[in-house]
Amino acid sequence: MSSIGLGKGPQGELADLSAAGLLRTLKPLDSPTGPRVIRDGRELWNFASNDYLGLASDPELAEAFIEGVRKYGAGSAASRLVCGTLPPHRLLEDALAAAKGTEAALVFSSGFATAVGSLPALAGKDDVLVLDKLCHASLIDGARLSGATIRVFPHNDTAKLARLLETIRAKQPAARVIVVTESVFSMDGDLCPLAEIIELKDRHGALLFLDEAHAFGVLGPHGMGLAAQLGLQHRVDFQMGTFSKAAGLSGGYLATSTAWRDLLVNRARSFVYSTAPPPALAHATIASLERIRSTDGDHRRKQLRENISILSAKHPSPIVPVLFGTNDAALAASTRLEEHGFLVPAIRYPTVPRGTARLRISLSAAHSPETIAALASEIGHR
Ligand SMILES: *Cc1c(COP(=O)(O)O)cnc(C)c1O
Repeated sequence: MSSIGLGKGPQGELADLSAAGLLRTLKPLDSPTGPRVIRDGRELWNFASNDYLGLASDPELAEAFIEGVRKYGAGSAASRLVCGTLPPHRLLEDALAAAKGTEAALVFSSGFATAVGSLPALAGKDDVLVLDKLCHASLIDGARLSGATIRVFPHNDTAKLARLLETIRAKQPAARVIVVTESVFSMDGDLCPLAEIIELKDRHGALLFLDEAHAFGVLGPHGMGLAAQLGLQHRVDFQMGTFSKAAGLSGGYLATSTAWRDLLVNRARSFVYSTAPPPALAHATIASLERIRSTDGDHRRKQLRENISILSAKHPSPIVPVLFGTNDAALAASTRLEEHGFLVPAIRYPTVPRGTARLRISLSAAHSPETIAALASEIGHR
C-alpha cells in the first residue's frame, strides 16, 4: 500500500508511542466525578482529579448551574464582542476583580484558552517572554504563538532568572519583558519563590504573568491564591487562573488593570473569535466564587491542609508527586494502586521531563483522613 505524503501514518506513530511506553488512551468513568468513582465497573478512591475543595459534585453548585439555565437559557450564541456578553459574564468579572483586588478581570472558556489568548495579545515579535522551565503547556503554546523571543530559566532558579533579565535588558533596553510562571506547579506541587521574582521583575522593568491555576481556591485568604497569601497581589501585573480546578467548574480568567483588560478584549484571539461560555456556567461560577470565599470555603481549605499533612508533613499544596523515573515503573505502580482501589495517575513525558515519570496524587477536602492514610500505607509498601 502506498503511503505517499503520510510519513509513518497514524498507526506507525501510535506504535512508536506504545513502544516508548508513552501511549495514552481515554478511560471514561462509569459514574459522576467525586472522591469515589467507578471505572471498569470497579469503585475507586479518586486521587486523580483537581477538585481540591470537592465542589465539582456539590449539589448547591449544580443547583446554581440549573438556575442559570432557567434564567439565561442554554448557550451564548455569539462571541463576547458581538452579542454574547450576558449579565452573568459581567457580574462574574466584576466579582472576580473585586475578589482579586484588581481593576478588571476577563473570563475565557478555559484556562488553556486564557493562556493561548493572553500571551500573544500581551507580547509580540519585539518583546521577550521569560518562562520557568516547568511552565504548563498552555503557557508554552501561548508564548510560541506570540512570536516574542522566548527565554527559559531553570525551575525556580532566581539567580539564573536575574542573570537572564540583566542580559535581556543590556541588549533590549526598551523591549517589553514579561516573566511567566506558576504559583503552584502542576506536576510537582511546589511553589514559585514569588517575592523574589517580583523583586527581580521590578528591578529590571519587567512585568509578571502568574498562573494561579492550582492556587486559586486553595491558598491565601479566602482562597485567592499565592499572591494574596503573601500580600503581593497588587504587584502582580497579570493574575491568571482557572475555574476548572478548585472552583469545580470550567473556564479561565485573567485579572489585571482596566487598560490591559481592554487590550485583551481587542486582541486575545481565543476571546475574540470564540463563542462566549454558556451564561449558566458564568452564573454557577459566581456561586462557586462566593462559596470559595465563604466560611465554608475556609473549612474546606482547613480540611484540605489537614489531609495534605497526613501524606506529607510540610508539603505546600494538594499535588503530591511520587517519582519513579521510568515510564514502566510509574505505570505499574498506578496499575497496582488501582487494583487496591485507588485511582492515581501515572504522569509521563511530555507532561513531565523524560526520566521523571511519576505518580501524581491530588488531594481534596472531600477525602476522608482514613482514606488518605490507607493510600499512604499502600504507597509506603511499594
Ligand atoms: C490546568 C491548567 C491550565 C489549563 O486550565 P483549564 O481550565 O483546565 O484549561 C493552565 N495552567 C495550569 C498551570 C494548569 O494546571
